Amino acid sequence: MLEIKNLHVKLEEEDKQILKGVDLTIEPGTVHAIMGPNGSGKSTLSYVLSGKGGYEVTDGSARLLDHDLLDMDPEARAAAGLFLAFQYPVEIPGVGNMTFLRTAVNSQRKARGEDELSAAEFLKAVREKAKSLKIDAEMLKRPVNVGFSGGEKKRNEILQMAMLEPKMCILDETDSGLDVDAMKLVSEGVNALRDGKRSFLVITHYQRLLDHIKPDVVHIMSNGRIIKTGGPELALEVEENGYADLLAEAQV
Ligand code: ADP
Ligand code: MG
Ligand code: MG
Repeated sequence: MLEIKNLHVKLEEEDKQILKGVDLTIEPGTVHAIMGPNGSGKSTLSYVLSGKGGYEVTDGSARLLDHDLLDMDPEARAAAGLFLAFQYPVEIPGVGNMTFLRTAVNSQRKARGEDELSAAEFLKAVREKAKSLKIDAEMLKRPVNVGFSGGEKKRNEILQMAMLEPKMCILDETDSGLDVDAMKLVSEGVNALRDGKRSFLVITHYQRLLDHIKPDVVHIMSNGRIIKTGGPELALEVEENGYADLLAEAQV
């Protein structure tokens, strides 16, 4: 699904190398987690994959299925099936949530050469998904994220993900200070979208989230590299002992 090889990334404006050779292969239908101390480059990795500006790839590659991701603009990446849940969802006053979602869904369908959904088809789909995610119909009518509580923003993000039906979902929850309820929402949303084909990369500073989203593979990132890869037990090791032992071990 996603294959990252030897990815090196520096800041565009400064001579600062942030990613120093990231290798990561995610098979279809699997959930991978990346954990690691603050400042390791976890968010940078997700930004670079989504096509956010300000970073320069100095070496390596990233492929999504048969696409060379790094050659594509952000819209094309999304149309190819990549979804990045933003840590800080934007508020868009004056644009209704429904309109926003329908525009997003249809512009992706168009980019893929598929027919756009009619108003009726879209309404049916969004109502079904909203219901299954326990989202109030009233929230669909409000302007995008304006005045939404933290939990509502999270719900909305999961609804966007459900409507766009991405193949590869990246969730960067690192610094968002998810409370227990928001964490449950995110994990229920992710679990509901697991279908044996769709893949997930869950980036988190905390082990707690992984109690709810059971990852298949856990990676530890430090100083711009993945220093250790293992199963779910690796997350529990971090929970018990912190990162110090893992970092010391990687230095040898
Ligand atoms: P993490 O998500 O693991 O906490 P980040 O990817 O946010 O790590 O940051 C990795 C390193 O790169 C940090 O040292 C951070 O300060 C630096 N960094 C990332 N983006 C920028 C930026 N736009 N300007 C300056 N420093 C940045
Ligand atoms: Mg950070
Ligand atoms: Mg981060």
